[in-house]
Amino acid sequence: MAAELHVHLEGSVLPETVQLLEPEISKEEIRAAYRFTDFAGFLECFKWIVQKLRTPEDYALITRAMLNRLDREGIRYVEITLSAGVILWKKLEFAPIYDAIRRESLISPVQVLWNLDAIRQFGPDAAMRVAEVAAQRVNDGVISFGIGGDEVTGPARWFGEVYAFAKKNGLRLTAHAGETAGPESVWAALEIGAERIGHGIRAIDDPVLLKHLREHSIPLEVCITSNVCTGAVVSLESHPVRRLYEAGVPLTLNTDDPAIFGTTLAREFAIARDRFGFDEAQMEQLRNNAWKYAFATQLERGD
Ligand SMILES: [Zn+2]
Repeated sequence: MAAELHVHLEGSVLPETVQLLEPEISKEEIRAAYRFTDFAGFLECFKWIVQKLRTPEDYALITRAMLNRLDREGIRYVEITLSAGVILWKKLEFAPIYDAIRRESLISPVQVLWNLDAIRQFGPDAAMRVAEVAAQRVNDGVISFGIGGDEVTGPARWFGEVYAFAKKNGLRLTAHAGETAGPESVWAALEIGAERIGHGIRAIDDPVLLKHLREHSIPLEVCITSNVCTGAVVSLESHPVRRLYEAGVPLTLNTDDPAIFGTTLAREFAIARDRFGFDEAQMEQLRNNAWKYAFATQLERGD
């Protein structure tokens, strides 16, 4: 049974789903939008997809398409990140959109919990608005709060109060960090209370941080293909996943934005096996980690 902890709803929109959202758009235009070579280009692509999402029905459609795919791939439990920060920034009404995706997730055979994500570079006030809507939905499918986007222009230290508020309201805490910025960005995310780190691969540059993650059992949500596609690592060969594992850091494997990066969870595991020499027992450990470090407890999941 497979589970995944780091996957974005908007990054799971396949080109053919864009065509459903906007039938008049040409295949060539879609292809061009999904093509990029660096992190800035990736953010542009993500933004382009997000701009196609306007109504609760649009969000319901992409949720349905994503969950059908995850079900076919054998995924039984998923924590999906919704860019609530972008929804608020677009000045769309959050409640009907969340109600629509929540409805879709409740009729799916895949068990779904939602992580609401704020955009770092939009600043702490905008992030607080996201934490507030997340807090209202704690007993309605939202399990956690996080930040993503630009680590450099939106440092974690801005969000201490927001994280404290989220925690007080029963939300679990994650943060994208150490993806494009160095280990100090991971330290800053831990400082404000992040319990899991999205990516975190640059921890490899800091032995003290590696020890801290190991000793406190703080997992990294590693997304190998994503890091190659966005240029967060210079090549697949240079990805530190194996070295992080050898350092005893708890790892989970994830797809991040599978439609944008052309990957699946099965493919990420195949890469770990074929390119990084993880044997079957180690792969099993990585698979189990997704359940072990899930924010919903076993009791809540009922598995
Ligand atoms: Zn992500």
